[in-house]
Formats: sequence, C-alpha cells, structure tokens
Amino acid sequence: MLAQSLNVFKFGGASLKDAAAIRNVANILETYKGNRLVIVVSAMGKNTNALEMIARAYTDGNVDTARHKLAEFHNATMAIVKELFGDAPEELAVALNDLFVSVEWVFEDEPNESYDYDYDQIVSVGELISSQLVAAYLNHAGLPTSWLDARDCIITDNTYREGWVQWPETQSRISSAVPPVLNTGKFVLTQGFIGCTTENFTTTLGREGSDYSAAIFSYCLDAEAMSIWKDVPGVLTADPRLFENVSKLDRLSYKEAIEMTYYGASIIHPKTIKPLQNKSIPLYVRSFLDPTAVGTEISSDAGDTYPPMVAIEKEQALVNISTRDFSFVAEHHIRELFEHITTTRLQVNMMQNTAISFNVVVNDIDDRVERFCKLVDKEFKTTVDRHLELITIRHYTKEVSDSMRRGKVQLLEGRMPLTLQMVVKEVPVIKRKST
Ligand code: ASP
Ligand code: MG
Repeated sequence: MLAQSLNVFKFGGASLKDAAAIRNVANILETYKGNRLVIVVSAMGKNTNALEMIARAYTDGNVDTARHKLAEFHNATMAIVKELFGDAPEELAVALNDLFVSVEWVFEDEPNESYDYDYDQIVSVGELISSQLVAAYLNHAGLPTSWLDARDCIITDNTYREGWVQWPETQSRISSAVPPVLNTGKFVLTQGFIGCTTENFTTTLGREGSDYSAAIFSYCLDAEAMSIWKDVPGVLTADPRLFENVSKLDRLSYKEAIEMTYYGASIIHPKTIKPLQNKSIPLYVRSFLDPTAVGTEISSDAGDTYPPMVAIEKEQALVNISTRDFSFVAEHHIRELFEHITTTRLQVNMMQNTAISFNVVVNDIDDRVERFCKLVDKEFKTTVDRHLELITIRHYTKEVSDSMRRGKVQLLEGRMPLTLQMVVKEVPVIKRKST
C-alpha cells in the first residue's frame, strides 16, 4: 500500500504574533482537517529578539534586567493565553510555567564559559512556548494536534547557535516518532529552530532557522510538499520594505532560490532549499493573509527566464589584508588566512585579491572580525571598513545596477554572467554651510 502523502507547514513569528494571528492560523488549518500534516512553528512575534536581549543581559551580569524582561515576556504570553482561552487549560498553564521557571533557573547560576551555550538554553524557550500555546489552541479549536519535542528528533553537533544536523540519527528519530502519531489522525506540531546534541543539550540552528527545521522534517518524511506561510504573497523580486515596483514570482528553481537566499533575500533561510532539492520536494511560499492565493512554487521544473532580482545583505565588513613585508599574497598566505577565518567563524560572502592584498567581505557578527585581525596581526596588516551593504543582483540589467549604485560609494564589485555583486556604503551627507 502506498504511504499517504504528507505535507509540512511552517508558520513564522509574524503569523503567530498575537491572539488574532493565532486564530487565523487555526482557520487556515481547519481547511486541512483530516490531512496528514506536520506543523512547524517559530517563536511568536519578535520573541526571539526579546530572548536574545535576556540572554545578553544575563551574560553581562545584569540579572535584574534579565529577570525583568523575562517577566514582561511572561505577562505578554499570559495575556495572549487569556484572550484565546479565557482560563488557561491546566496542562498548558503548567507547561508554560515550567518553561519560564526553566529560564529563571539558568539565572541562578553563573554564566557559562560559552555564551553560545547559554544563548541556546535561553533563546530556545521561545519556540517551546509558542508550540505549547499553539498546539493547545488547535486542540481547543477542535483540531486534534499532538505536540512533539523537536529535540527528540533533530540531532546536531555541539556548535551552539549554529548546530550542524546529524542526518542519519535525525532521519531515524523522525521516521520512528512522527508517522505513528499521524496515523492516529492528529496533526503533529513541533518547534522550528531548535535541536539537541547526543548528550541531550539544547542547540539552535541559527537565526530564522525554523524554515530549515521544516525542510529537515520534509526530507526525512518524504513530504509531498512543504509550505511556508508568510505575510507577503510569495517570493518577490526584491524586499518590498526597501523597494518600490517589486513583483511576485510564480515559479522559481531551487538553484535561483539558493543563490538569492544565500546573499540575503530574507524570505527563506538559505539552508532550507538543499534538503528539499535532494528529494524534489516542492516548496510553496504562501500568504497567511490570503490563504487561497497560489504564492510561489520553488521546484526543479521551474523555467529559466527571470526578471532581475535583488538581495541585500546589511552589516557587512570589508577586511583588506596585506602582508607586513609587502610580499605578494601567495597561496600559503591564503591557506593560513582561511584557517583563521574558520576558527573565528567568519562567514565570507565575497573575496578578491590583487598582488599585494586580499579582500574579504564578511557578515559583521559579534567581535569575530576583531578576533580575526588579532590572530593574523603578526604577519598581516588589516584594515576594516564597516556598516557596508552587499548588493546581489541576479539576472542584472544595466538599468537595475545603475539604480542600485545611485547615492552610494562602491568599494568592490564582482561580475559573473548571471550575477552582479557590489559592496557599497552610503554617501556621507556633507552639510552645507548656511549662508
Ligand atoms: N525564532 C527564530 C528566529 O526568530 C527562528 C525563526 O523564526 O525561524 O530567528
Ligand atoms: Mg522568522
């Protein structure tokens, strides 16, 4: 007998931001009642940002601030519970309380040596809370749903804040945990973004990683399709918050989607596409505000003519590296530089070299650039230009690239037949003297 087809839906923070949004999600799911469905949720609204601030305050020794912010978050959550349920069902009240208490317990101890470890223990709670709340609400709304702890399924190494998925273990856990529950006729609802090491420590997969979680479940369960529900009608040619005249793409190939998301098209987490592509599982990007509209289909059989598409990655640092003795930057230097790039976890978006210098453009995260410069300081002179933007245009035209350059100083450019990339900074405003 053929296994019945199964779908994976991912709902992000914006689709769960308040009680009305959660009701809307339940209304969407009502139309899928009886289907085999795995639902992956992110933390509600901007709660991950709030938890990041809590983790930071705790690490910096400002435990009172951390407690205060946690209490605010707790109150806001309970206000949503009240609006949705009136009195919270006993089981939900206990589960939520336990989760908030688990963070308070972290505050009782001194911060760990590794900030990334503490970060994951605290920030992961956002998804645990939202999943408890949404699962309880779906049950309350007459949609039988079983809550699943993603940490029993998604196994990672111990790279905190960027856990690397251990595929064979993850595959075997998902295949044994999920289908039996779906067979009972319930939806399975789980958390995005979080995983677990084999020693049972919670990890996260990187910011915006819930899309990736949904793709992992889709891959391991051979889903028929995966859908990401967003507040935009689908994949657009550019970010509508930054550009006018954007249009929706009806279809997109996996390859295009990988190229664009890697360079900052924030619509989908870049790691999402690969697992889907490997099993030819189509990905639909759809609007939770207009759930019957078709959205964008990302798959292998999409055509190959595209309009220009623009992605922007902000907070870039350009590191210019030259040898202290003015010798050429040779292969062995580059090898050494890349060793340090790897150990400081710099994420390189672009590189270029001349005879005596090597330029890398990286995501400017925490103090990684400083640490890198320090490590190479003995042999290399480095200069750093910060707060830059990396603009990537696929299928570029002169008109689009000229318009992107307007009002900017261009520091670096890279051209390939289909892709134009430039690193720019805003032109500093020179104030005129008033006469
Ligand atoms: N809640 C996490 C974040 O905001 C993961 C996600 O939304 O995908 O980064
Ligand atoms: Mg998100």
